[in-house]
Amino acid sequence: MKRVILLMALLLPACLFAAPAGIDRVEPPFWWTGFKNTNLQIMIHGKDIANTTVSITGSNPGGLSIIKVHTVGNPNYLFIDLKLGASAKPGVFKLCFSNRGQVVESYNYELKQRKPGSAGRKSFDNSDVIYLIMPDRFANGDITNDNIAGMKENVDRSKPDSRHGGDIKGIMDHLDYLKELGVTTLWMTPLLENDQPVYSYHGYSATDFYKVDPRFGTNDDYVKLGDALHQKGMKLIIDQVFNHCGSEHWWMKDLPSDDWINQWPEFTRSTYRAGSVSDPYVSATDSIKFNRGWFDKTMPDLNQRNPYMKNYLIQNSIWWMEYASIDGIRQDTYPYPFKDMMSEWGKRMLEEYPNLNIVGECWMNYPATVAYWQKGSKNLDGFNSNLPSVFDFPLHDALIQAFNEKEGWNTGILRLYEIIAQDFSYPKPMDLVTFADNHDVNRYLDTQNDDIRKLKMAMAFILTTRGIPEIFYGTELLMTTGADKGHGTIRRDVPGGWQGDSRNAFTAAGRNDPENDMYNMIHNLLHYRKSSTALQTGKLLHFVPEDGIYTYFRYNSQSTVMVIMNNNEEQKTLETGRYKEVLKNFSSGREICNGKYITDLSKLTIPSKSVLIIELKH
Ligand code: CA
Repeated sequence: MKRVILLMALLLPACLFAAPAGIDRVEPPFWWTGFKNTNLQIMIHGKDIANTTVSITGSNPGGLSIIKVHTVGNPNYLFIDLKLGASAKPGVFKLCFSNRGQVVESYNYELKQRKPGSAGRKSFDNSDVIYLIMPDRFANGDITNDNIAGMKENVDRSKPDSRHGGDIKGIMDHLDYLKELGVTTLWMTPLLENDQPVYSYHGYSATDFYKVDPRFGTNDDYVKLGDALHQKGMKLIIDQVFNHCGSEHWWMKDLPSDDWINQWPEFTRSTYRAGSVSDPYVSATDSIKFNRGWFDKTMPDLNQRNPYMKNYLIQNSIWWMEYASIDGIRQDTYPYPFKDMMSEWGKRMLEEYPNLNIVGECWMNYPATVAYWQKGSKNLDGFNSNLPSVFDFPLHDALIQAFNEKEGWNTGILRLYEIIAQDFSYPKPMDLVTFADNHDVNRYLDTQNDDIRKLKMAMAFILTTRGIPEIFYGTELLMTTGADKGHGTIRRDVPGGWQGDSRNAFTAAGRNDPENDMYNMIHNLLHYRKSSTALQTGKLLHFVPEDGIYTYFRYNSQSTVMVIMNNNEEQKTLETGRYKEVLKNFSSGREICNGKYITDLSKLTIPSKSVLIIELKH
């Protein structure tokens, strides 16, 4: 019997006898068959791994071959190019690493089956309203993950810039709240591990691109959140960052090569002048400093010109899309990375997911400089980003000015009209993501001296004009930054999200009257928008503002919605003869916020600082 076992052992592949793997990183950790692009580049990290030869042994799930194995400057890395042939099947194959004929390491690499319909998944679009959550600040559903042994930062709710303990479970517990509010799509700021000593809560300093931060939950929890959203008919947007990682990222202690990140003789900050990328007259000095300067001392600037880094980022993006059934992507600091790589990324994503929508954070103040970055722009330099959507920062800026300013020839409500009237700059203005505020800017109420009327006007505007609206969590609860200004207080905890909170703002009983009034206004408009194809995808026709009044229509063959914004401190009675090219087809209307019928459209009364939204009737 012993002799038979010995004989069998001799016949088995040598790598079964390999010593325990000293390999500490294999990224991506697994992959899928069935992608259009059949190339896969696996990064291996392990002590002196470059001194081995790589082979596939044991069961090979068909059609799989090693094309090339690359060594880079550091012997602790290998990059393995694999080709998944047409006959590649899901399964596990063994990567063996040999030195002088002896297998010294091995890794069981899994190729999974793609989920049915994965490639054709619908993304977020004009029918959606995005709700932006900072997971550390929404709700703490699991206090056992607040502090994780060995991680560098613990919870301290007394400090606005520390971790507060919110997590995926907390969001899972409040999906009914989001569904009832009427938003359709969830964008969470990044959930990847950020094992940084300070400011780790915001998620923009990844220390592992393949792992959800344990203080938020597990990778599996993230998948379950996506599944739960889908079961409720909602969508999930992932927030990705290609420009930088965290200074405590594991590879910072052992970089693959000197050019893995952009390095400077001394710390050099990006100019943050994103407009310099599209500037026809830009100096090389400015261009390099913007593009290769670091976003912050704790955020090393990734070098997307490095071909291995390029593959790494593209594959990481695809990996999360497939792994967690993601519906859409928000890309952070979009103009900061090497733009040709970003264009290639967009192309690859749209090849694998033809319906995918990606919105880029192109934080600039003019329609022209933002439009440069939208897919299909006719740019003088020929650049095409392959980025379907961009945030409408110019409209955000106009929203801050419009209701605060005294009405004048160039001021007040005209600000909104002027930005919208520049939509010719964009290949697809309807796909812009519109917002009154987000996690990086002042809360809208703070910009309007806490005047709730102005917040209501802003919400009415972004939910009825063109675009895909985004609402920052807490807007419906009149959340403000207060006296203690700063990023940490823009991102306040939702009352009721933490055990021991004095009230629960997730319930009507836990909200005060003004909060309930705001909640109800947003709730009613969101639910109306869900059923109004005119507001989602209808055409826009607007009239030049006069006397502080801006009037526009959203319409299609089914319905027409009239919106009148009164930016005056007085109630106005409006003679509507000026709008007869539209109104001639209608005899009455219904106010959608209160259901009131209007039988005479020739004269309309709009209270001070308010918006009238009317569904017109024949
Ligand atoms: Ca927690």
